[in-house]
Amino acid sequence: MAAIFMVKQKVRERLKTFYECFRAEQVQIEGCTSKYAAVAFREGLLPNSHMYNDLVRKPAKDMSEIQTRIEGEISLEEIEAAHATRSTSLIASRAPDESNINGAEQNRSWNRNRRSEQTMDGRGLQENQNKFTISQSTILRAHQNEGIFTKPPPLMSDPSRRDQSRFCEFHREYSHTTNQCQNLRWQIESLMAKGKLIQYRALGEEENNPAP
Ligand SMILES: [Zn+2]
Repeated sequence: MAAIFMVKQKVRERLKTFYECFRAEQVQIEGCTSKYAAVAFREGLLPNSHMYNDLVRKPAKDMSEIQTRIEGEISLEEIEAAHATRSTSLIASRAPDESNINGAEQNRSWNRNRRSEQTMDGRGLQENQNKFTISQSTILRAHQNEGIFTKPPPLMSDPSRRDQSRFCEFHREYSHTTNQCQNLRWQIESLMAKGKLIQYRALGEEENNPAP
């Protein structure tokens, strides 16, 4: 009979789900009285949850009282869950528009690069190549011995499917050219944000990079 005390509400488990699990267990335990189960149910709830506190303050005499008392709590929970789902989908549907809003572009463009422009072989799309006054490969060659660049992580793409006609001096791998290298671009942009290599920042980029 003590087995009923083993049924515990998990963190973030809905009260309704827990109640259903509990009832399913309860019917399998022989001799588990409704009064005994009511105590076990309370002890199975997450400590300090609203329902737990309520049942400590005013203990329920049996499971039918529990059922009556949790009904209000369960419907409240369902309203909250429905609300949460709605606001999540609202945020998701708004996201694309937000990237078109000007201002605070630095972080956003960084995120956008990371999200959509990196391909499996480390090659970035071309659109931001004009962020620098000279090519990435020239910047790399001029500064690669200064210890300012970090070794890029290995490429994730299948080696047999990489473009053998394009070599990246930064990755030291075939797949994309140095000028297409996404990681190199991030690193140059990151250095620029810290005030390094700013001599290569293309005109117009400054206003998008407010001083920290
Ligand atoms: Zn590369």
